[in-house]
Amino acid sequence: MKGFIKSAVKPENGEDSAYYICFLDDDVLVEKSNESEFFPLLTNEMAKKFGFQKECFIGFLNNKSCYTLATADKILSDEYQYISLRDIFLTREKFIFDITGYAKQIHNWNRNFSFCGRCASQTVLLPNEHARLCERCQLINYPRISPAIITVVVKDNQILLARGHKFQDKQMFSVLAGFVEAGESLEDCVKREILEEVGIEVKNVQYFKSQSWPFPDSLMIGFTAAYKSGEIKIDDNEIAEAGWFKADALPKIPNQRSLSGELIQWFLNNRKQHSNENIK
Ligand SMILES: [Zn+2]
Repeated sequence: MKGFIKSAVKPENGEDSAYYICFLDDDVLVEKSNESEFFPLLTNEMAKKFGFQKECFIGFLNNKSCYTLATADKILSDEYQYISLRDIFLTREKFIFDITGYAKQIHNWNRNFSFCGRCASQTVLLPNEHARLCERCQLINYPRISPAIITVVVKDNQILLARGHKFQDKQMFSVLAGFVEAGESLEDCVKREILEEVGIEVKNVQYFKSQSWPFPDSLMIGFTAAYKSGEIKIDDNEIAEAGWFKADALPKIPNQRSLSGELIQWFLNNRKQHSNENIK
């Protein structure tokens, strides 16, 4: 794949062929063998045979139009297979994950907001941007992104890790994360979440980096922080177990492709420099 250009503006002239990013729940249809194409590149005739209807235009992949759509039933084909977005994240190159994650979020939004949340009328997709307008009450709805903070907390060369009740892998520990509330700064969210979840106060909150997290529509914003005060006291509703871990005695931790994995790696790379007063 050479390049992907995001766009909401469909080409004026119809096209002979296009990429179809076809979702069945959380799975996406991909070619079985040819990595260079990956998503089905189909002529209009071939698309018709599969019963594909173009739902939402999302841009150009290798100069070809790219549409999302959903099917209720599995497409049975020797050429194609389904793969989950999570497996794409874990096993494919970042470029592929970025396109699929973007496509999934625009696709979900386009479907979920086909009716106005204020007056319940049907909405229309505007031609020049990803926006859905209610023509009756003029409410415009844009794709939603839910910001969440994720923070590595360090104390005396130890890292704060916790295991959440909702984790699929019951052995896995990670850094703490939580959704930003209305009216709250990111830094305040870091302090509140860590205090609420494990009873620890933090200081020196510093931005690290961010990562789009399309499960289903988050933006993870990573921070580093230093321990300030308090003893670990977990919120039983959210957290199953939490503790301070030394670099040479870490439990099972997330893949480094995730921001949580990167934050833990940052701790490992910089552990000699960590102290309570200055963690960078
Ligand atoms: Zn309305």
